[in-house]
Amino acid sequence: MKKKYTILIIGAGPAGMAAAAALIQKQPCLQDEILVLEKASHPRPKLCGGGLTPWADEMLIKLDLNVEVPSFRLENVAFYFREKPIKFATNNFLRIIRRDEFDAALVQKNRTKGVKIQENVNVTAIHYQKDEMALKTSAGDFHAKIVIGADGVKSLVRHHLMREKVSRISRLLEMLIPVDAERLPMEFEKKMAVLDFTPIRQGLQGYIWDFPSIIDGAPYLNCGIYDSRVNPGSKRADLPALLRDHLRRRGLEIHHKIEGCPERWYHPAQKISCPRVLLTGDAAGIEPWLGEGISTALSFGPIVADAVIEALKSGDHSFSDYGRRVKKSNLGRYLNLKRQIAQLIYRPGFYRLLPAFGHSLAFFMQRQKKYPMTAYVEKTRAHPIE
Ligand SMILES: Cc1cc2nc3c(=O)[nH]c(=O)nc-3n(C[C@H](O)[C@H](O)[C@H](O)COP(=O)(O)OP(=O)(O)OC[C@H]3O[C@@H](n4cnc5c(N)ncnc54)[C@H](O)[C@@H]3O)c2cc1C
Repeated sequence: MKKKYTILIIGAGPAGMAAAAALIQKQPCLQDEILVLEKASHPRPKLCGGGLTPWADEMLIKLDLNVEVPSFRLENVAFYFREKPIKFATNNFLRIIRRDEFDAALVQKNRTKGVKIQENVNVTAIHYQKDEMALKTSAGDFHAKIVIGADGVKSLVRHHLMREKVSRISRLLEMLIPVDAERLPMEFEKKMAVLDFTPIRQGLQGYIWDFPSIIDGAPYLNCGIYDSRVNPGSKRADLPALLRDHLRRRGLEIHHKIEGCPERWYHPAQKISCPRVLLTGDAAGIEPWLGEGISTALSFGPIVADAVIEALKSGDHSFSDYGRRVKKSNLGRYLNLKRQIAQLIYRPGFYRLLPAFGHSLAFFMQRQKKYPMTAYVEKTRAHPIE
């Protein structure tokens, strides 16, 4: 088995798959020069709400990674900034996929294009060796000129090569609740996602979500809680208690397994590259307002590919410009804007202004050119948590 490559990508999640797809799209001759190493075997479990935005769908088309997987398309979204929600009708808000199916389909699609992906290979260490990178893995040593760290929130690449003193970790809990097909919650009938920001009053720097989801043909409610911790220092909210309280008020059973997984938020000042190494996706960081990271992971792909192709052409493998390149891109501007929104609305005391923020959001979303939404307030009691 060949153990020396020009480019090694660590991680076959959406970020790794987008980087590989963008590289061979822009430079087909690189196909035999790239290897992806993945510690799991697809379909692998991945804790996630599975909400795919229109932007993610756009990126999938651009990258020629538009895969066919079962999805539940939503037509409405209810934002709770106080007891009465602001609702939006749109045919283009989110579609809910299952990550095990989605990620496995991305891997499969890349394989049909000739991308080499080795599963069940755990990278355990990475270091510089002369003019290349040396990787220790569960399948022996590998060497590469360039390494792309697409290895998720707990990135070994970041940990080994780009240690940072600042913690930018968000906390998330998720619960999958099977629901009675005869008495489906309104999220299914109305094709609606619920995002409840009212626990900000209890110190949450995020929201609680309810997404309708279909697993193996059966309906489930995907309920979760997101705490961005974008304003560190303030007291941490009690996430399990807030989630349980939310479920109790909805009359849902609360004895299902709660699982947790962190996220990491992006800051333009943070280090996301070093000589011969680039970070992408969760390893680099995502936006901390909604904690939505699939579109980010996909959007990093072309930026990473441009940086790598230029480095190979010029022979300058320092990637000293990568941080600035990301920051100046549409993706960087989007991540930055959402970080600023998060730091504003998740500031202690801001909850008094949340309803006003909700109205501003409605104003903005209705005037969006690309994905316009119609805001409305239902006269009936539309949601059980009201
Ligand atoms: C509870 C929760 C809910 C979420 N809900 C949403 C949502 O609804 N919508 C949304 O857009 N985003 C959501 N996110 C965020 C989203 O899941 C991530 O942003 C996305 O998975 C990032 O993709 P990635 O490829 O960077 O990382 P990952 O998907 O984590 O992929 C990283 C890959 O690297 C592999 N890997 C890790 N270490 C190694 C190693 N040492 N050697 C080899 N391989 C390795 C892993 O096995 C994995 O396959 C949610 C996150 C959480 C935690």
